[in-house]
Amino acid sequence: MSTIVKSTLSASGMEASRLLTRRSFVAGIGATAALVALGGLGLSGCAPKTQGSGAAGGEEASEDYDLVIVGTGGAGLSAAISAYDAGLTNVVVLEKMAVNGGNTNFSSSGMNASETKFQKEQNIEDSNELFVTETLDGGHNTGDPELVQFMGDNSAAAIDWLDSLGIKLDNITLTGGMSVKRCHRPTDGSAVGLTLVPGLVAAVQERGIPMKMSCEAKELVKDGDAVVGVKVDEKGKAKTLNAKAVILATGGLGANQEMVTKYRPDLAGYVTTNQPGATGDGYVMAENAGAELIQMDQIQIHPTVEQDTSTLVAEGVRGGGAILVNADGERFFDEMSTRDKVSAAELEQPGGFAWCVFDQQVYDANKAIAKYDDAGIVQKGASVAELAEAIDVDAAALADTIAAYNAITTDGVADEFGRTEGCIAFADGNMYAIKVAPGIHHAMGGIRINTKNEALDAAGNPIPGLYAAGEVTGGIHGNNRIGGNAVCDIEVFGKNVGEVVAAALA
Ligand SMILES: Cc1cc2nc3c(=O)[nH]c(=O)nc-3n(C[C@H](O)[C@H](O)[C@H](O)COP(=O)(O)OP(=O)(O)OC[C@H]3O[C@@H](n4cnc5c(N)ncnc54)[C@H](O)[C@@H]3O)c2cc1C
Repeated sequence: MSTIVKSTLSASGMEASRLLTRRSFVAGIGATAALVALGGLGLSGCAPKTQGSGAAGGEEASEDYDLVIVGTGGAGLSAAISAYDAGLTNVVVLEKMAVNGGNTNFSSSGMNASETKFQKEQNIEDSNELFVTETLDGGHNTGDPELVQFMGDNSAAAIDWLDSLGIKLDNITLTGGMSVKRCHRPTDGSAVGLTLVPGLVAAVQERGIPMKMSCEAKELVKDGDAVVGVKVDEKGKAKTLNAKAVILATGGLGANQEMVTKYRPDLAGYVTTNQPGATGDGYVMAENAGAELIQMDQIQIHPTVEQDTSTLVAEGVRGGGAILVNADGERFFDEMSTRDKVSAAELEQPGGFAWCVFDQQVYDANKAIAKYDDAGIVQKGASVAELAEAIDVDAAALADTIAAYNAITTDGVADEFGRTEGCIAFADGNMYAIKVAPGIHHAMGGIRINTKNEALDAAGNPIPGLYAAGEVTGGIHGNNRIGGNAVCDIEVFGKNVGEVVAAALA
């Protein structure tokens, strides 16, 4: 006898998303939106068994699958591809929004990975051990060492796997908290998500795996201890999707202010970098099915969020040489330190904000900056003095600040704030600045899993039939995520969970 596991907190997508809306969700995702129509067609090769007539006929419609994946972000799409390639063809991917890709669309700086062929080609010396150590250090040793080790050990294979799907990430940069270049971006240095999502969507479509758009998972169906399906609302029609396994890849909670403040009352009123569908539904469904949620109060705020548009200014901008100055035109912290520390330092400045200041070299090396410029958030001047005037900062103070920063690189002077990474001297000429302050960015806690992506209960026992991958899981990042590690997480564990489920159902 099946039972329904209902959601209790108001995580239902659209309602909760209205609480806190990412204003620019549609910006920059035209490429993926164009693929949505195809994704919704239910392409050949995966026709489910369908019964019932749906709400109009009284009897609720049901469909039978081997595997239902909830969420079309990087984790869900990767799981679908790897499951299919491992022999599981009766698979469906659900997406409650009209646009696929979730927060993965926005991922900008890149994907961390160690011992990759691209690092080797570029003579970058790195090791899985160093990656693991820096990830655990970045999270102040509150991450799960076993999960982190698994991520590090499988990161190069994930880069190769993406390359085999036509997603080449061979432009390598730094983000805060890493001592060697490990953050992999598309060849032209553009934002990783806009290459990753269309590439994964294309691979899903090539395999004929259906994506149901505007199809919201509402509840998990259980038979005894086992999860055996999902209740959904597909374009207003209630259905039950029966499945031998369900993977929750629903992403985080950053757009659900009610849930954010349930776990972190101090974050009330913060803007969010997240897309409107990041409403934490997966946590509620998993918890009600018996899974343990861990470290849910670990919600990362990101230090460089433009507040009027909620635009995240990618960490790669600082990694490429940008500095943070306060309203007095003075630097105040090591810009390449971890996000928690930079955010805290920023909040202590007058007005609780900073200017992210950079020159033409940084502008040209980071394709994302042109998009920020298009959005009207980049202030500019033809010299330091002109920029200072544009941002109402003392010109002499800003000039002194830049000169002192340049001396780190040109004269080998030790930085008073301890910055050692990404120090690139400013060149004369055009100067730019974006006003930033912290914003809600990433859910580091989540569903407890093991290295097979099995959802675990409080005693550490797997819940039969229930798996989770990506931001909806907890344990990788501990209490501070290193920029670039989330995309590594979703790719390593997204690929892994598809293979695990295919093997389990073989
Ligand atoms: C602005 C921004 C920049 C970032 N930059 C980087 C970066 O450079 N490097 C990095 O490592 N990380 C970055 N991150 C974090 C990273 O992008 C995310 O953690 C990661 O993409 C999450 O992937 P996911 O597949 O787990 O979830 P998502 O990509 O968010 O996908 C989850 C999907 O599930 C859908 N969904 C949710 N609930 C339901 C439901 N009930 N039914 C059906 N569908 C549902 C959502 O609508 C969404 O489409 C960034 C995040 C943001 C917001």
